Amino acid sequence: MVINRNKKGTRLELKTVDTDSDDKLDDSLAEKLIRRAESSLAVQTVIQHGIVFCHSLFAVMLKHIQWGASIVLAVDNSDIEAIVRLPEGVDPAVWQCEHLRQLCLQLNQLVALLIPECLPSNEDCREMKAGEWQYLCAAHVSPQPCSAIDYIIHTLDGATALLNSSKFFPSRATIPMASHKHFSSIARRLYRIFAHSWFHHREIFDDFENETCLYKRFLFLSTIEFQLIPEKLITIPQVFDMGV
Ligand SMILES: [Zn+2]
Ligand SMILES: [Zn+2]
Repeated sequence: MVINRNKKGTRLELKTVDTDSDDKLDDSLAEKLIRRAESSLAVQTVIQHGIVFCHSLFAVMLKHIQWGASIVLAVDNSDIEAIVRLPEGVDPAVWQCEHLRQLCLQLNQLVALLIPECLPSNEDCREMKAGEWQYLCAAHVSPQPCSAIDYIIHTLDGATALLNSSKFFPSRATIPMASHKHFSSIARRLYRIFAHSWFHHREIFDDFENETCLYKRFLFLSTIEFQLIPEKLITIPQVFDMGV
């Protein structure tokens, strides 16, 4: 199944077409969508459109594998870039905010996969660890040594609540300058969820990543397009060639 975009003048919605289509999400599409959409949800719509495109690539690749063809299971870097690169004319803060909101939504799917495996009775999951690093949970009045799965859930809930807070993010069209600082702290905490998964639940991480490209998108957003996370805090080995 490939997701195709609509013809000019039709409503903004997705439709399915045959697998031979060579449709691509390009920069100009993102710009056109933003110009065309009248609601303040335009940026979110563009991001989700790009992500659906990424999923459709995965579906096509699975079909090729079922046919016995030998292909590399990886989404091209240009596709990640097309989803995450800041389109011309879009407020960078709004773009970061919407991507982080979308990441939180999809991270919930990863958490659902981790819950049966990330048990406090496991040595590596008793506290929040990622390789050699150990973290205290900041979701409490004083930081607590929550188990890994509790840390992950508390962190994700806290990030989601903050991004949806009418106090700090009262509008989806503009972001108050004083709230920009939260992007970096949210990204640094969300990174630890990926890191715990990579170091201690590798199979779940790999399966999820192959299907969603979520870590690639997160890394591109947080270290290439915007400097939300310093390089020294990236503990997952550079397993992906980001190509830029
Ligand atoms: Zn765990
Ligand atoms: Zn906690």
